[in-house]
Amino acid sequence: MEYLPVTNAQKSILDTVPTLGVETVKLEDSLARVLAEDVHANRDLPPYDVSAMDGYAVRSEDLVRVPAHLAIIEDIKAGDMPSKAVKAGQCARIMTGAPVPQGADAVIRVEDTLALPENKAQINRAVKPGNDIRLRGEGMRNGEVVLRVGTEITPGVTGVLATVKCAQVRVYRRPRVAILSTGNELEGMDDPVDPDKIPNSNSYALMAQVQALGIEPDLLGIARDDPAELEEYLQRGLRFDVLLVSGGSSVGVHDYVRPILETLGVRMKFWRVAMKPGHPVAFGVLQRNHDVTSKAVEADEVQGARRAATQAYLENRQGSEHRATQQCAGSTAFVFGLPGNPVSSMVCFEEFVAPALRRMMGHARLFRRTIAARLTHDIKHQPGRTEFVRVTLAKDERGYAATSTGAQGSGMLLSMARADGLMVVPAESTGLVAGEQVTVQLLDGTVFQDDAGFKE
Ligand code: AMP
Ligand code: MG
Repeated sequence: MEYLPVTNAQKSILDTVPTLGVETVKLEDSLARVLAEDVHANRDLPPYDVSAMDGYAVRSEDLVRVPAHLAIIEDIKAGDMPSKAVKAGQCARIMTGAPVPQGADAVIRVEDTLALPENKAQINRAVKPGNDIRLRGEGMRNGEVVLRVGTEITPGVTGVLATVKCAQVRVYRRPRVAILSTGNELEGMDDPVDPDKIPNSNSYALMAQVQALGIEPDLLGIARDDPAELEEYLQRGLRFDVLLVSGGSSVGVHDYVRPILETLGVRMKFWRVAMKPGHPVAFGVLQRNHDVTSKAVEADEVQGARRAATQAYLENRQGSEHRATQQCAGSTAFVFGLPGNPVSSMVCFEEFVAPALRRMMGHARLFRRTIAARLTHDIKHQPGRTEFVRVTLAKDERGYAATSTGAQGSGMLLSMARADGLMVVPAESTGLVAGEQVTVQLLDGTVFQDDAGFKE
């Protein structure tokens, strides 16, 4: 099989992976989920013309000459209804959010006035009609669509949902994700430290990447490079919506993952991508038959038990002892064979798995935000593969400057841990020089910087 360009591999995945079904969750539990239906306003807001300031409701024509002295006819607080109309030479004291009384066509803020004896106010400034009045329905109009399907629920969206009294929110289901590590050399978290072994970091780094998307994955543990054991684990993993397998997908004689997946009915879409780090990475689809699906639905009903099992596993890991839980909902399972090398596995997750999971969750935007940055040093590159260099970003008056996090070996996890982003070296590049403009994929959707980013 050819080595696929990264974007072709991404397209192949996104052409295959669907958006999942819909479920209802409580507003309190909906942060970071994606709306599965349009949301409408259920009233006009504000419900009537209200004051935007603490001050006086006035007739603008009374202020042709200022200062003007007006008689205060009443006090209107937020929540009150005015009882009188404002007539020539009169005003009403009004608080922010209180309804503007009949007759008044403007509000003047208290800072532009002076309280006088005998319930009078001196107005020092003329204003135009409409001044500091929020018009009925200017926030939202009854019946209008205020949020569209596909909108991610951010805190601002939560506020809008609360405003329209959406206590139960229709959102897309999140995929159930299983993570399996493979390799005889791997040492489980609770195994004693053995200098001859390799700690299983991939299960946890991948877990964190999945969690960062708002999904709680299931860790299946470590399968040894033994066809029978692997088959059992892979079978278990294929009951989920998405199975991530790290390691064992290469072409070594003990790399059994791909052949076993194929025996289990998985159709591999690709297993070679022209990228660095990241080889080998594979993607496959299992179309489950009805029998398996109905079992899966049964399994769906024991979700509580499954969560308890996850907890038990995390609390009581025993080396390569693994939980046997099963879970799936749809009739299709998607499998990603990720490279064993820790950095490669994480980069492949970023490029292939994250967009797929976001698609399944109903997100309209699937990819990390990219920014343009200036390279601070030369980068060597052999044409052929798209390279993702881990970089830190610094901001100066000329924009962002990108600097490699140091040694970029695909096993050097610190290069990833220190990175603000992945700098993309195009496949055809023959090397980049200091000062060149590059594209960097930001690694965190909510990247923070040292200062507020503006001066006053
Ligand atoms: P593989 O893809 O199985 O040939 O593994 C490639 C390299 O990644 C080997 O050096 C493995 O020891 C390492 N590796 C594989 N799986 C993991 C893991 N779960 N955690 C850390 N390193 C791993
Ligand atoms: Mg291996």
